[in-house]
This record gives sequence, C-alpha cells and structure tokens, in this order.
Amino acid sequence: MLVVMAAHATPEQVAQVVQAIRAMNLSPHPMPGATRTAIGITGNINAVDPRTLEILPGVSELIRVTKPYKLASREMHEADTFVKLPRTTIGPGAFTLIAGPCSVENEAMILRTAEFLMERGVGLLRAGAFKPRSSPYSFQGMGLDGLKILEKARARTGIGIVTELMDTDNADAVEAAADVIQIGTRNMQNFSLLKRVALARKPVLLKRGMSATLEEWLMAAEYVMAGGNYQVILCERGVRTFSDHSRNTLDLSVIPPVKKLSHLPILVDPSHGTGKRDYVPPMALAALAAGADGLLLEIHPDPDHAQSDGAQSLDFAAFDRLLESLKRVSAPLGRVLN
Ligand code: PEP
Ligand code: MN
Repeated sequence: MLVVMAAHATPEQVAQVVQAIRAMNLSPHPMPGATRTAIGITGNINAVDPRTLEILPGVSELIRVTKPYKLASREMHEADTFVKLPRTTIGPGAFTLIAGPCSVENEAMILRTAEFLMERGVGLLRAGAFKPRSSPYSFQGMGLDGLKILEKARARTGIGIVTELMDTDNADAVEAAADVIQIGTRNMQNFSLLKRVALARKPVLLKRGMSATLEEWLMAAEYVMAGGNYQVILCERGVRTFSDHSRNTLDLSVIPPVKKLSHLPILVDPSHGTGKRDYVPPMALAALAAGADGLLLEIHPDPDHAQSDGAQSLDFAAFDRLLESLKRVSAPLGRVLN
C-alpha cells in the first residue's frame, strides 16, 4: 500500500500518517518526492484496514501495490534510485565500472590494481576477502587480513571498496571495511544475512541467485529494504541453464524487465556470467547496450597465476582495450562512464 500525500501536505500531516501506520503495527517508509511525499506501507497488511488512513488530513490517495515486492517495485517508487558512493553515483545516465581480482591474494597485487584503476578514473575496487568456493580444498580467501589490505588500498589511493560478506559473524568487520557490501549468488536467499545487511549503513550489491527468478531476486532486495536499507544495487551474474559453452548463461534479457518492474540500479558481471576471459568484452558491451547501469569485472595483474577465477579475469592490457571500446560506445548511447 502506498499513501500519496497532497502536494500542499505539511510535515506535521506526514508525521501524523507515519504515526497512524505504526499504530496499526505496520512499517511506514516515507519517500519525499519532487512535488509530494509518498509513504510506503509494509507489513502484514491483511490484519488491518489501511483505508482508515484515507481520511487523515493531507492524504491525497491510497494506492494498492499489487506486486509481492513492495519497496523494490516501481509501483511504490516511480523514480529511479541512484546509489551515492564516495567517488561516484550508480544509476541511469551513468555507466559505473567496478573491477578487481576475484580474491585478495596479497597486499602488493591489491595496491597495484587499485593504483591501476585510479589512474584510469575507475573509483571502485572489488575483491573478495571471504570467498565462497565450491571445494573446501580451494583457496578460501584471506579473511580479516584481506579486509585490512583493502582498507590500506583505500587509505593509499582513495579508491572505494566492494567486498563480499558471507556470514553474519563477519558483518561488522565487512561493513567497516567496505563502501559497498556484496552478497554473492549463493547467499541471495540467505535471509539471516539479508536481514543483517538491512541494518548496515552501506549500500548492498545483491547478486542474482544462480537459479533465481526475477521475482525471487526482487524479493531478496525487499528483505534488505524492508529492514531499512534502501541502497540496493542488483547484479546479474549469469544463471544455470542447459548451455555448456560458458560457465553460466548471462541473462541480459533480465535488464529491461528489471528496469520496468523496479527502480533499483542493475549492474552486470560478465566475468562470472561467461567464465572465459575472451567472452567478457563482447558481453560487457552488450550489457551497456541493453541498459545496465554498469559492470562488475574481474581483472588481475597476472590472471594465469590467480588464486581464483583466473580463466575469466582480464589482464590490465585487456581491461584497457575494453575501456576504450566502452568509451566509444557509451557516448552515442548517452551514458557517462564513471
Ligand atoms: C565473486 O564475485 O567472486 C563471486 C564469488 O561471485 P558469485 O557470487 O556471482 O559467484
Ligand atoms: Mn570470482
């Protein structure tokens, strides 16, 4: 349910509606707009009759939101969401690059990558300190020591940090180290984790579950938003299909429906989406053309000796070539690379 206030409604009238919603044991989500404020209502709406709100002063109309995801839907929030970060803003009009190695492997390679990216105007470094690996015998990441290295890279270069949170135990440490908290594909429906990052004061990059429908994905975003964190960035990283020519099937066809049904920004990860570095540049350009708001790319100073995901990582020269192509294509599409 969405309460639309009249354009002339006073802050006191908005506060009165917010209070009335709380009194019904529901959660109010005030959304100030350019001309008027709307207040989203979440909670078990069947238990009460929110139509009683209609008669409160300053209320213009009540709109029923039909989708099961409410705060993530365009029905409730028509305007696009822009996620503001220290160095960039993610959202329509821009095309934001986030890049880095799959894992934090040591300090030197992270500092080198951070400097390389900053020289090219890429202000977000992504690397995992905690790694969800299919095999317990594979490199599991450097953990807390890896977070320290990422913090050092930010202090030295000013680059923003995107890193994955795998479990609630490490939430405080990851939240402190990260500018954006990544939730990986395997955790898209880890509801305890989603409820924890809902309390975080950092934006959340929510990767699509490898077998998740769009509705399940938006419901996962809803968990984060319902808990009070509205700064959610979606990330398509490929889904499982019968195709075996690539690691996953990068579902670029999900971008237009995401844009139609939701106001949240969406990035594309062509590295995990293809699993092969040669396939990354064409799919990166296709993501730009299909309307994504940016890319999550795996790059590595020496991909052939990477501890994880080397096969899908670009070396620095290949990243430079892709950057040139993206620059050429973004301008005619009216997008600004950042
Ligand atoms: C990663 O980003 O390195 C990662 C593990 O991604 P995903 O969760 O998409 O598999
Ligand atoms: Mn990876």
